[in-house]
Amino acid sequence: MIATDVISGQVKGAPSALPADHIGNGFFGQDILSVRQFDREKLDYIYRVADEMRSLVKRFGKANLLDGKILANLFYEPSTRTSSSFQAAMLRLGGRSISINEVHYSSVTKGESLPDTVRTLESYCDLTVLRHPVTGSAELAARYARKPLINAGDGTGEHPTQALLDIYTVENDLGRLDGLKVAMMGDLKYGRTVHSLTRLLSLYETELYFVSPEILRMPDEILGEVRASGHNYTELRDVDEIIGEIDVLYITRVQKERFEDPAQYDEVKGCYVVDPALMAHAKSDMILMHPLPRVYEIAMEVDDDPRAAYFRQMENGMYIRMALLAAVLGKA
Ligand code: ASP
Repeated sequence: MIATDVISGQVKGAPSALPADHIGNGFFGQDILSVRQFDREKLDYIYRVADEMRSLVKRFGKANLLDGKILANLFYEPSTRTSSSFQAAMLRLGGRSISINEVHYSSVTKGESLPDTVRTLESYCDLTVLRHPVTGSAELAARYARKPLINAGDGTGEHPTQALLDIYTVENDLGRLDGLKVAMMGDLKYGRTVHSLTRLLSLYETELYFVSPEILRMPDEILGEVRASGHNYTELRDVDEIIGEIDVLYITRVQKERFEDPAQYDEVKGCYVVDPALMAHAKSDMILMHPLPRVYEIAMEVDDDPRAAYFRQMENGMYIRMALLAAVLGKA
Protein backbone atom coordinates (compact mmCIF):
# COMPACT_ATOMS: atom_id res chain seq x y z
CA MET A 1 0.00 0.00 0.00
CA ILE A 2 2.91 2.35 0.59
CA ALA A 3 3.73 2.47 -3.12
CA THR A 4 0.16 3.34 -4.02
CA ASP A 5 0.07 5.89 -1.24
CA VAL A 6 3.28 7.53 -2.29
CA ILE A 7 2.25 7.59 -5.93
CA SER A 8 -1.23 8.95 -5.27
CA GLY A 9 -0.13 11.14 -2.40
CA GLN A 10 -3.08 9.82 -0.40
CA VAL A 11 -2.80 9.31 3.33
CA LYS A 12 -3.49 5.71 4.31
CA GLY A 13 -6.54 5.43 6.50
CA ALA A 14 -7.29 9.15 6.39
CA PRO A 15 -10.92 10.07 5.79
CA SER A 16 -10.17 12.85 3.32
CA ALA A 17 -7.83 13.09 0.36
CA LEU A 18 -5.11 14.76 2.40
CA PRO A 19 -1.79 15.03 0.53
CA ALA A 20 0.76 12.94 2.44
CA ASP A 21 3.52 15.52 2.14
CA HIS A 22 1.63 18.10 4.11
CA ILE A 23 1.78 16.49 7.54
CA GLY A 24 4.75 15.22 9.52
CA ASN A 25 7.06 15.69 6.55
CA GLY A 26 5.21 13.08 4.53
CA PHE A 27 5.11 10.32 7.16
CA PHE A 28 1.51 10.70 8.29
CA GLY A 29 -0.51 7.61 7.42
CA GLN A 30 2.41 5.98 5.62
CA ASP A 31 3.89 2.50 5.92
CA ILE A 32 7.59 2.21 6.78
CA LEU A 33 8.72 -0.81 4.78
CA SER A 34 12.19 -0.02 3.48
CA VAL A 35 14.92 2.54 3.95
CA ARG A 36 14.51 3.25 0.23
CA GLN A 37 11.63 5.52 1.30
CA PHE A 38 14.09 7.91 2.99
CA ASP A 39 16.20 10.73 1.68
CA ARG A 40 18.54 12.93 3.72
CA GLU A 41 15.81 15.45 4.44
CA LYS A 42 13.42 12.83 5.77
CA LEU A 43 16.16 11.26 7.89
CA ASP A 44 17.04 14.60 9.34
CA TYR A 45 13.41 15.25 10.19
CA ILE A 46 13.14 11.93 12.10
CA TYR A 47 16.45 12.61 13.89
CA ARG A 48 15.34 16.02 15.08
CA VAL A 49 12.05 14.57 16.32
CA ALA A 50 14.05 11.80 18.04
CA ASP A 51 16.16 14.50 19.74
CA GLU A 52 12.93 16.01 21.07
CA MET A 53 11.76 12.60 22.24
CA ARG A 54 15.03 12.10 24.10
CA SER A 55 14.69 15.37 26.00
CA LEU A 56 11.01 14.67 26.64
CA VAL A 57 11.89 11.29 28.21
CA LYS A 58 14.77 12.76 30.21
CA ARG A 59 12.67 15.63 31.56
CA PHE A 60 9.19 14.16 31.97
CA GLY A 61 9.42 10.44 31.27
CA LYS A 62 6.26 10.52 29.18
CA ALA A 63 3.78 12.57 27.20
CA ASN A 64 0.20 12.08 26.08
CA LEU A 65 0.76 12.62 22.37
CA LEU A 66 -0.61 9.21 21.40
CA ASP A 67 -3.30 9.02 24.06
CA GLY A 68 -6.03 6.65 22.87
CA LYS A 69 -3.86 5.06 20.15
CA ILE A 70 -3.15 1.33 20.09
CA LEU A 71 -0.23 -0.43 18.43
CA ALA A 72 -0.39 -4.07 17.26
CA ASN A 73 3.07 -5.55 17.85
CA LEU A 74 3.09 -8.70 15.70
CA PHE A 75 6.26 -10.79 15.88
CA TYR A 76 6.64 -14.09 14.03
CA GLU A 77 10.35 -14.21 14.97
CA PRO A 78 12.15 -13.68 18.30
CA SER A 79 12.91 -10.14 19.40
CA THR A 80 14.03 -8.39 22.55
CA ARG A 81 14.99 -4.82 21.65
CA THR A 82 12.76 -4.09 18.66
CA SER A 83 9.62 -5.47 20.24
CA SER A 84 10.12 -3.96 23.69
CA SER A 85 11.34 -0.59 22.42
CA PHE A 86 8.26 -0.21 20.21
CA GLN A 87 6.11 -1.02 23.23
CA ALA A 88 8.05 1.35 25.47
CA ALA A 89 7.86 4.06 22.79
CA MET A 90 4.09 3.69 22.64
CA LEU A 91 3.76 3.76 26.44
CA ARG A 92 6.03 6.79 26.79
CA LEU A 93 3.81 8.66 24.34
CA GLY A 94 0.65 7.78 26.21
CA GLY A 95 -0.52 5.03 23.84
CA ARG A 96 -0.92 1.31 24.40
CA SER A 97 0.03 -1.85 22.59
CA ILE A 98 -1.21 -5.36 21.99
CA SER A 99 1.63 -7.83 21.59
CA ILE A 100 1.41 -11.05 19.66
CA ASN A 101 4.91 -12.42 20.22
CA GLU A 102 4.05 -16.06 20.32
CA VAL A 103 2.17 -16.52 17.09
CA HIS A 104 1.95 -20.24 17.94
CA TYR A 105 -0.75 -19.36 20.41
CA SER A 106 -2.68 -17.28 17.88
CA SER A 107 -4.80 -18.39 14.93
CA VAL A 108 -1.61 -18.58 12.85
CA THR A 109 -1.32 -22.15 14.19
CA LYS A 110 -4.74 -22.86 12.71
CA GLY A 111 -3.43 -21.83 9.30
CA GLU A 112 -4.46 -18.19 9.20
CA SER A 113 -2.69 -16.20 6.48
CA LEU A 114 -0.56 -13.12 7.16
CA PRO A 115 -2.99 -10.77 5.34
CA ASP A 116 -5.89 -12.07 7.46
CA THR A 117 -3.96 -11.78 10.74
CA VAL A 118 -2.90 -8.23 9.92
CA ARG A 119 -6.42 -7.23 8.90
CA THR A 120 -7.75 -8.69 12.13
CA LEU A 121 -5.33 -6.79 14.36
CA GLU A 122 -5.84 -3.50 12.61
CA SER A 123 -9.56 -3.71 13.31
CA TYR A 124 -8.56 -3.13 16.94
CA CYS A 125 -5.45 -1.00 16.53
CA ASP A 126 -4.19 2.15 14.80
CA LEU A 127 -1.01 0.73 13.32
CA THR A 128 0.91 -2.54 13.09
CA VAL A 129 4.57 -3.37 13.66
CA LEU A 130 5.44 -6.63 11.92
CA ARG A 131 8.44 -8.96 12.11
CA HIS A 132 8.31 -12.02 9.88
CA PRO A 133 10.85 -14.60 8.62
CA VAL A 134 9.91 -14.21 4.96
CA THR A 135 11.61 -11.50 2.89
CA GLY A 136 8.96 -9.24 1.36
CA SER A 137 6.33 -10.15 3.95
CA ALA A 138 6.00 -6.58 5.22
CA GLU A 139 5.26 -5.37 1.71
CA LEU A 140 2.73 -8.15 1.24
CA ALA A 141 0.99 -7.39 4.54
CA ALA A 142 0.97 -3.64 3.81
CA ARG A 143 -0.81 -4.28 0.53
CA TYR A 144 -3.74 -5.68 2.48
CA ALA A 145 -3.59 -3.36 5.48
CA ARG A 146 -5.69 -0.21 5.52
CA LYS A 147 -3.71 1.30 8.38
CA PRO A 148 0.03 2.03 8.55
CA LEU A 149 2.43 -0.87 8.93
CA ILE A 150 6.05 -0.72 10.05
CA ASN A 151 8.54 -3.38 8.98
CA ALA A 152 10.43 -4.63 12.06
CA GLY A 153 12.52 -7.08 10.02
CA ASP A 154 11.45 -9.24 7.06
CA GLY A 155 13.63 -12.33 6.74
CA THR A 156 16.96 -11.45 5.17
CA GLY A 157 15.44 -8.38 3.53
CA GLU A 158 15.47 -5.19 5.57
CA HIS A 159 15.27 -3.85 9.10
CA PRO A 160 14.59 -0.17 8.43
CA THR A 161 14.04 1.04 11.99
CA GLN A 162 17.33 -0.55 13.09
CA ALA A 163 19.21 1.28 10.32
CA LEU A 164 17.55 4.55 11.32
CA LEU A 165 18.75 4.15 14.89
CA ASP A 166 22.18 3.07 13.67
CA ILE A 167 22.70 6.19 11.58
CA TYR A 168 21.25 8.33 14.37
CA THR A 169 23.84 6.85 16.74
CA VAL A 170 26.70 7.55 14.34
CA GLU A 171 25.55 11.15 13.96
CA ASN A 172 25.20 11.55 17.73
CA ASP A 173 28.54 9.98 18.55
CA LEU A 174 30.69 11.37 15.74
CA GLY A 175 28.80 14.57 14.94
CA ARG A 176 28.66 13.93 11.20
CA LEU A 177 27.87 11.37 8.55
CA ASP A 178 29.69 12.71 5.51
CA GLY A 179 33.36 11.88 5.16
CA LEU A 180 33.29 8.73 7.28
CA LYS A 181 34.92 5.39 6.62
CA VAL A 182 32.53 2.64 7.68
CA ALA A 183 33.30 -1.08 7.83
CA MET A 184 30.60 -3.71 8.17
CA MET A 185 31.87 -7.09 9.27
CA GLY A 186 30.37 -10.55 9.74
CA ASP A 187 27.27 -12.02 8.14
CA LEU A 188 26.61 -9.55 5.35
CA LYS A 189 24.61 -12.06 3.34
CA TYR A 190 21.77 -12.86 5.73
CA GLY A 191 22.06 -9.86 8.06
CA ARG A 192 19.12 -7.62 7.23
CA THR A 193 20.40 -4.75 9.38
CA VAL A 194 23.48 -4.28 7.20
CA HIS A 195 21.35 -4.36 4.05
CA SER A 196 19.31 -1.43 5.32
CA LEU A 197 22.35 0.33 6.76
CA THR A 198 24.30 0.11 3.48
CA ARG A 199 21.40 1.67 1.59
CA LEU A 200 21.15 4.54 4.05
CA LEU A 201 24.89 5.16 4.16
CA SER A 202 24.83 5.44 0.38
CA LEU A 203 22.92 8.71 0.86
CA TYR A 204 26.05 10.20 2.46
CA GLU A 205 29.63 10.74 1.37
CA THR A 206 30.90 7.57 3.01
CA GLU A 207 33.59 5.09 2.12
CA LEU A 208 32.32 1.56 2.65
CA TYR A 209 34.23 -1.61 3.55
CA PHE A 210 32.56 -5.00 3.59
CA VAL A 211 34.45 -7.59 5.64
CA SER A 212 33.12 -11.15 5.47
CA PRO A 213 33.93 -14.75 4.63
CA GLU A 214 33.34 -15.56 0.95
CA ILE A 215 30.07 -17.38 1.67
CA LEU A 216 28.65 -14.45 3.64
CA ARG A 217 29.38 -11.63 1.19
CA MET A 218 27.06 -8.67 0.79
CA PRO A 219 24.45 -9.63 -1.85
CA ASP A 220 25.17 -8.46 -5.41
CA GLU A 221 21.87 -6.59 -5.54
CA ILE A 222 22.98 -4.29 -2.73
CA LEU A 223 26.53 -3.90 -4.07
CA GLY A 224 24.95 -2.86 -7.37
CA GLU A 225 22.89 -0.22 -5.59
CA VAL A 226 26.01 1.12 -3.87
CA ARG A 227 27.77 1.43 -7.25
CA ALA A 228 24.72 3.06 -8.80
CA SER A 229 24.75 5.66 -6.02
CA GLY A 230 28.27 6.63 -7.11
CA HIS A 231 30.10 5.13 -4.12
CA ASN A 232 33.21 3.05 -4.03
CA TYR A 233 33.44 0.08 -1.73
CA THR A 234 36.06 -2.48 -0.83
CA GLU A 235 35.42 -6.13 0.00
CA LEU A 236 37.83 -7.77 2.45
CA ARG A 237 38.24 -11.02 4.35
CA ASP A 238 40.10 -9.47 7.24
CA VAL A 239 39.68 -6.21 9.14
CA ASP A 240 43.35 -5.94 10.17
CA GLU A 241 44.45 -3.92 7.17
CA ILE A 242 41.85 -1.17 7.74
CA ILE A 243 41.24 -1.21 11.50
CA GLY A 244 43.48 1.82 12.07
CA GLU A 245 41.69 3.95 9.46
CA ILE A 246 37.98 3.41 9.94
CA ASP A 247 35.57 5.62 11.88
CA VAL A 248 32.89 2.98 12.41
CA LEU A 249 33.16 -0.78 12.80
CA TYR A 250 29.72 -2.38 12.59
CA ILE A 251 29.83 -6.10 13.39
CA THR A 252 26.93 -8.52 12.99
CA ARG A 253 25.92 -11.91 14.34
CA VAL A 254 26.18 -14.88 11.97
CA GLN A 255 22.48 -15.56 11.41
CA LYS A 256 22.32 -19.22 12.45
CA GLU A 257 18.60 -19.50 11.74
CA ARG A 258 19.08 -18.74 8.02
CA PHE A 259 21.54 -21.58 7.29
CA GLU A 260 20.24 -24.71 5.59
CA ASP A 261 23.39 -26.65 6.44
CA PRO A 262 24.36 -26.51 10.16
CA ALA A 263 27.91 -27.63 9.28
CA GLN A 264 28.33 -24.51 7.18
CA TYR A 265 27.22 -22.37 10.13
CA ASP A 266 29.77 -24.10 12.38
CA GLU A 267 32.49 -23.25 9.87
CA VAL A 268 31.86 -19.50 10.01
CA LYS A 269 30.19 -18.85 13.36
CA GLY A 270 33.27 -17.56 15.12
CA CYS A 271 34.85 -15.95 12.06
CA TYR A 272 35.30 -12.51 13.63
CA VAL A 273 35.71 -11.56 17.26
CA VAL A 274 36.33 -8.03 18.44
CA ASP A 275 38.48 -8.05 21.59
CA PRO A 276 40.66 -5.52 23.42
CA ALA A 277 43.65 -6.54 21.27
CA LEU A 278 41.83 -5.53 18.08
CA MET A 279 40.45 -2.36 19.69
CA ALA A 280 44.02 -1.36 20.57
CA HIS A 281 44.69 -0.90 16.84
CA ALA A 282 41.56 1.17 16.22
CA LYS A 283 41.37 4.98 16.18
CA SER A 284 40.74 6.58 19.54
CA ASP A 285 37.43 7.95 18.26
CA MET A 286 36.29 4.95 16.22
CA ILE A 287 32.94 3.58 17.34
CA LEU A 288 32.11 -0.10 17.56
CA MET A 289 28.50 -0.96 16.72
CA HIS A 290 26.36 -4.10 16.79
CA PRO A 291 22.59 -4.47 16.25
CA LEU A 292 22.56 -7.15 18.98
CA PRO A 293 22.09 -9.85 20.15
CA ARG A 294 25.79 -10.71 20.18
CA VAL A 295 26.85 -14.31 20.44
CA TYR A 296 30.57 -14.68 19.76
CA GLU A 297 31.36 -11.40 18.04
CA ILE A 298 32.35 -9.03 20.83
CA ALA A 299 34.27 -9.99 23.96
CA MET A 300 32.60 -8.66 27.12
CA GLU A 301 35.86 -6.92 28.12
CA VAL A 302 35.18 -4.46 25.31
CA ASP A 303 31.92 -3.25 26.90
CA ASP A 304 33.62 -0.69 29.13
CA ASP A 305 35.55 0.86 26.25
CA PRO A 306 33.93 4.26 25.57
CA ARG A 307 34.08 3.43 21.87
CA ALA A 308 31.59 0.57 22.38
CA ALA A 309 28.39 2.14 21.04
CA TYR A 310 26.01 -0.83 21.14
CA PHE A 311 24.33 0.11 24.42
CA ARG A 312 23.83 3.65 23.13
CA GLN A 313 22.32 2.17 19.97
CA MET A 314 19.67 0.29 21.92
CA GLU A 315 18.65 3.36 23.90
CA ASN A 316 18.51 5.48 20.75
CA GLY A 317 16.19 2.87 19.27
CA MET A 318 13.42 3.92 21.60
CA TYR A 319 13.72 7.62 20.66
CA ILE A 320 13.75 6.78 16.96
CA ARG A 321 10.69 4.55 17.35
CA MET A 322 8.90 7.24 19.36
CA ALA A 323 9.64 9.69 16.54
CA LEU A 324 8.39 7.28 13.88
CA LEU A 325 5.21 6.41 15.74
CA ALA A 326 4.43 10.07 16.31
CA ALA A 327 5.18 10.95 12.68
CA VAL A 328 3.18 8.09 11.18
CA LEU A 329 0.21 8.86 13.45
CA GLY A 330 0.37 12.56 12.53
CA LYS A 331 1.51 13.83 15.94
CA ALA A 332 5.15 14.76 15.33
N1 ASP B 1 18.26 -8.02 16.01
C1 ASP B 1 18.74 -7.92 14.66
C2 ASP B 1 17.70 -8.45 13.69
O1 ASP B 1 16.59 -8.74 14.08
C3 ASP B 1 20.07 -8.54 14.46
C4 ASP B 1 20.20 -10.02 14.72
O2 ASP B 1 19.22 -10.69 15.00
O3 ASP B 1 21.32 -10.49 14.61
O4 ASP B 1 17.97 -8.54 12.51
